[in-house]
Amino acid sequence: MNKENFMDYKLSKEIVRALDNLGYKHPTDVQSAVIPIALEKKDIAVKAQTGSGKTAAFGIPICEMVDWEENKPQALILTPTRELADQVKEDITNIGRFKRIKATAVYGKDSFSKQKAELKQKTHVVVGTPGRLLDHMDRGTLDLERLRFLVIDEADEMLKMGFIDQVEAIIHELPMDRMTMLFSATLPEDVVNLCHKYMENPTDIEVQATENTTHQIDHSLFIVKEKDKFNLLKDATIIENPDSCIVFCRTKEQVDNLYKLLDQFGYTCNKIHGGMEQSDRSYVMDQFKRGKFRYLVATDVAARGIDIENITHVVNYDIPLEKESYVHRIGRTGRAGKTGKAITFVTPYEEKFLEDIERFIGFEISRRSIPTKEEVANRKAAFDKKMKVQPTIKKEKSEQLNKGILKLYFNGGKKKKIRAVDFVGTIAKIEGVTADDIGIITIQDNVSYVDILNGKGSLVLHAMKNTTIKGKQLKVHEAIKKHR
Ligand code: AMP
Repeated sequence: MNKENFMDYKLSKEIVRALDNLGYKHPTDVQSAVIPIALEKKDIAVKAQTGSGKTAAFGIPICEMVDWEENKPQALILTPTRELADQVKEDITNIGRFKRIKATAVYGKDSFSKQKAELKQKTHVVVGTPGRLLDHMDRGTLDLERLRFLVIDEADEMLKMGFIDQVEAIIHELPMDRMTMLFSATLPEDVVNLCHKYMENPTDIEVQATENTTHQIDHSLFIVKEKDKFNLLKDATIIENPDSCIVFCRTKEQVDNLYKLLDQFGYTCNKIHGGMEQSDRSYVMDQFKRGKFRYLVATDVAARGIDIENITHVVNYDIPLEKESYVHRIGRTGRAGKTGKAITFVTPYEEKFLEDIERFIGFEISRRSIPTKEEVANRKAAFDKKMKVQPTIKKEKSEQLNKGILKLYFNGGKKKKIRAVDFVGTIAKIEGVTADDIGIITIQDNVSYVDILNGKGSLVLHAMKNTTIKGKQLKVHEAIKKHR
C-alpha cells in the first residue's frame, strides 16, 4: 500500500465512488504502477501475484476507459480458470457499478445458449477461459470488432494449462489497434515470448511478492509418512484450530477421500475439484466465501486467483509438485494485509520437491515436530468448542456496494424493441430521479432488469407501475433473488 490516492489518477467520479464503497482507500503497489500507464493506453507486462490487487489494477482503467454507449464488447479478459473468470467479472461489476458497466463471464461446462443470449446484449467487458471464448468466436456469437482492450491474466498458468494455441488464435482475431496488458505471477520464457509477439513496446512492471510470500505468512512443514498424514491432519487442526482453512490435495480422488474422512470426523467441510459440475463448484466457493463451513478440501483448481477474505490457514496435505504452485496455494491466506499460516506435509520421498520450492521462495521453511499426545489433548476442548459453533457469516464484498440498490424486473425486452436508452430516458424523467440513479441495465428477449441506485428503488418501482416505456405499459416488480 502507499499513500497515493485514487483521486490522483483523473478517474471519473463514478469509479472513485465505487472504490470508496469497496473500501479501497489507497492504491496497492501494483495499482499505482499500472493505472497511470494503462490510462495512457500503453501496453503493459506485469509480474505480480494474486493478492496484490492486480485485478483492480487492470479493472479500474478498463472501467474508466470503456465507452458506455457502445453495445459491442470493448474489453476481453482471458483467465485460466472458470472460478477466476467469475471472480474477475464480479470485481469489474463492482468497480464499474456506478458507470453501469456490464461484464459477462463465459467458460466451458456452462450453458452455451445462456452465454450466447448474454453476449447478444450490451456487454462492455467479456471475461472468459480460452476454449469457450474461441467457441463463441467460431460460432459468431461473440463480436470482437469493437475490441480495444485485451488482458491476459495469470499468463503463466494459462500457458502451463496448455492454452497457448487457443490464446494465440484469439489474439489473431482481435483488432490490431488495441491495448494489451499481461499479468503473470512468474515470467517463464514462453510468457516473455508472448509479450514480444503481441505487445507493442510494453512497459515492464515488477511488483515484489514479498508481502504475500514471506512477511504476512508463517510457513512451516511436517515430515510425515503417507499413511500417517490423516492422523497428523487431525492433530494439526486441533493444535491450530483455524477459523477458515483450505486443505490442498494433488488429485480429485484424494480430495474425495479426504473430504469423506473429515466429514465423518465431524469437520464442517466441503470440497472442490475440476471433476465437479461448474454449478456445484460455484456453489461451494460461494458458501466458503460466506463462511458457511471452515474446511475446504481442494485441488489446485481452487488455488489460482480466488479472492476469499480471512482464510487463516492453508494446509498442503500433498506437497505441490511444481514450485510455482506452492506460492499460488499459500497466496490464499495472508491476503490484503492479514496474516496467515501455511503448513505443508512432506513425505520422506518428496524432499526434492521441497528443495525446489525452498530455492524458489528463497528461504527455508521451518520444520516442526509432530504434536505430542499431550499437546493435542490440551487443545482439544477449544477445538471442539469452535467446531460446534457455526462460523460467522462473512459479508460478500459487493454487499456493501449493493446497499441502496434495488433490481427491478420488467416483463418486456428486445422483442418489444426496448433498449437501454429507453429505460434511462423514462426513469430519469421521474421526479426526484436522475440518470445517476440508474445502474446496470440487462435486456433479454422478453424481460429486462434495471438496477436503481441510491435508495430510489421503491420510488421508481411505484412510478413505473403507471408509466409507459416506448408507449407500452410493462409489468414491473422487484427482481427475485437469483437474478441479483
Ligand atoms: P487480487 O490481487 O486482485 O486478487 O486482489 C486481492 C485483494 O485485495 C482483493 O480482496 C481485493 O478486493 C483487495 N484490494 C484490491 N485493491 C485494493 C485496494 N486498493 N485497497 C484495499 N484492498 C484492495
